[in-house]
Amino acid sequence: MGGMTIRPILIHPDPRLKKRCAPVTEITDAHRKLAEDMLETMYAAPGIGLAAPQVGVLERILVMDCVKDPEAEPRPMVLINPEITWASEETRVYEEGCLSIPDQFAEIERPAEVRVRWLDLEGREQEEHFTGLWATCVQHEIDHLDGKLFIDYLKPLRRQMITRKMVKLKRDRERERVAERARG
Ligand SMILES: [Zn+2]
Repeated sequence: MGGMTIRPILIHPDPRLKKRCAPVTEITDAHRKLAEDMLETMYAAPGIGLAAPQVGVLERILVMDCVKDPEAEPRPMVLINPEITWASEETRVYEEGCLSIPDQFAEIERPAEVRVRWLDLEGREQEEHFTGLWATCVQHEIDHLDGKLFIDYLKPLRRQMITRKMVKLKRDRERERVAERARG
């Protein structure tokens, strides 16, 4: 399939991170390549989840691997058109971060357990009951497919503060890129 590529991750604020993504109607080689690249990009970051809009593709695909123990076998997952079919009433608070919002963390409350249905890369329907970090992660990533970020759960003032920091981060990075080019 021609090797994996680390794709640039979009940083908030970006209009592509605010869009509702379209369902995948036919799984093609382009989707398989995208999924491989997304996993590579996620592991390199490093992160435990990544949604297609974060690499600028507005389709309902996410990848995740919440195995944190470096000794344990990795479990790369690709979820196409994921849907939450059941959520527990019991909630869990977890300090979330996001590869599109570097170095910012906040405690977010979500259902503690969820059942999710999706298509795998072969187009087969899968369903699984997620708990713990997996449950938090899959909900965070599905939110991305609906144009929602974890900071959207925060009070406006806190959200604006983080957004301002990200605007500055992007400006600084752009300045570095320009300086890099000038040194050429
Ligand atoms: Zn995220």
